[in-house]
Amino acid sequence: MKKRKVFQLNQFQCVIAFWEGKYQGVARLSNEVVYRVIGIDLEDVEIKLKEQIEKNGKEIVYDHLKKVHQKLLKSNNVKNYQDIEITLSKKNHRTAHCFRCRGQLDNHYNHECNACGWILCVCGACGCSYSKF
Ligand SMILES: [Zn+2]
Ligand SMILES: [Zn+2]
Repeated sequence: MKKRKVFQLNQFQCVIAFWEGKYQGVARLSNEVVYRVIGIDLEDVEIKLKEQIEKNGKEIVYDHLKKVHQKLLKSNNVKNYQDIEITLSKKNHRTAHCFRCRGQLDNHYNHECNACGWILCVCGACGCSYSKF
């Protein structure tokens, strides 16, 4: 029987596994665990995890991106970083890879930085911090 499953859903990195006598699943944004569910088998956990992400994943992603973005802007000494907002693009669909962590970026799910116009990564990186790497 399979005891472990790893998949990506929107920006969430999901891992389902059997440990400590239970089927458990976690969803991460970057290294931060944002969902944790328990179920009767792998499939059950997967369904529950997807339900959670569908329910309020968008808000969770927004809060997370806002937080890590601000943190990285601050540590890169970007001027007036508190005033830099993020928004979900209504423009054409585009995808990219993060220069910092190589994570996948998709402007349908990842907000964009209003200062540089780049798609924000769940690690917080955007064009404003690019020159520093
Ligand atoms: Zn990244
Ligand atoms: Zn930026």
